Amino acid sequence: MARTNGFKRPLHILQVLSWVIGSLLALTFYLLIIPPLISSSKIVFGLSYSIFSVFTILFMIICTIIDPTDLAIEAERNAKNGTSSYKISGLTKICRICKSYVHDNAKHCGYCDRCVDGFDHHCKWLNNCVGKKNYKYFIFLILSLEFFLVDQILGSVYIMAGINKKWEEYENILDNYDMNDSEIYGYMTVICFFCLIALGLFISNTYLILMHIYLNYKGWSTYQYILIIRESKAKKNQRTAPEKLPIDSIKEYYEPYLIDNRDSMEIMPMHKILPNILKDITTIGYKEDPSGNPSLSIDMQLDEDSLQSNDNVQFQEETK
Ligand SMILES: [Zn+2]
Ligand SMILES: [Zn+2]
Repeated sequence: MARTNGFKRPLHILQVLSWVIGSLLALTFYLLIIPPLISSSKIVFGLSYSIFSVFTILFMIICTIIDPTDLAIEAERNAKNGTSSYKISGLTKICRICKSYVHDNAKHCGYCDRCVDGFDHHCKWLNNCVGKKNYKYFIFLILSLEFFLVDQILGSVYIMAGINKKWEEYENILDNYDMNDSEIYGYMTVICFFCLIALGLFISNTYLILMHIYLNYKGWSTYQYILIIRESKAKKNQRTAPEKLPIDSIKEYYEPYLIDNRDSMEIMPMHKILPNILKDITTIGYKEDPSGNPSLSIDMQLDEDSLQSNDNVQFQEETK
C-alpha cells in the first residue's frame, strides 16, 4: 500500500526520535534555562525561542502531512474510477510499479511505494518524500530549525558561562531553585548534555543548509547529487573493481521506468491501455482495431527487448 503522507504507519524510528528530542530540548529550555534569567534576557531568549519553535513544528507538520505523490497517478486513478475525466497529457514516462504515467522529474520511492514528482529525497526524519510539493517547506523547516538550535545553544552557554562568575543569572539560579553545590552540578550537567545534542544537530543541519544552497546553485536534486557522487567514486574504483557500478542498482530501485515514444498519447485513455501494457503476457503484439482506434487494442508485455524491437510501438528503457 503506497504511503500518502509521513503520518501514515509505520512511523520511522528517526521520525519518533525527532519529536522526542525536540520536546526534550524545549522542556530543558523552558524549565531550566529561561526561569533563572533576568527579565531582559528572559524576553530576548524566550520570545525568539518560542517563535522559532512554532515555525519548526509548523513546517515539520506541513512537510510530513503533504502527499508528494505525482499528480498524474491520482489523475489516472480517478479516471479509472470514473470520478474524474481530468488527465495530464503529454506524459511519456511510465512507472512499472505504480502502473501509471508520471511526470519527467518523478522518481519512484521504494520506502513509500509511489512516484514523487520533482523527487529530491526520502527523508526518514519526516517519514515522507521531499518532492516538488513540499520542497520549499522543507527549506523553511531546516532554516527555522537552525535558529531554534542557535537559541538553544546560546541559552545553555549563557547559563553555563555564569557558573564561576557572580553573574546575576547565577545568583538567580541559587535563589530560585534553592540548590546546594551538588544539585547545581546536576543542573548544569543536564543543560550541558542537551546543549551538546543541540550542537550536534546544529552542525548536521548547517551542513544540510549549505548542501541545499549548493544544490540549488547547481540545479541538482539530492538524488542527482548522490548519483553524481557515487558515479565519480565508482569511476575511481573501477580499475580495481570493474563489476557493476553501484549507481546501476540505485537507478533500478528509483527509476523503474519505460519511455513511451508514441505521438498519439493524447487520444489514448491511460487507464484502458495500462492494464494491458503491464499484464504478464509473453509476446508483444499490436492489433489493429476494426473500430479504427488502434490505441485501445494494444496487447503487450514489459519485455524490454521485445518492446524495443517493435516497430509500431516503441518503448525504451530510460537511460538518463
Ligand atoms: Zn512509481
Ligand atoms: Zn519516500
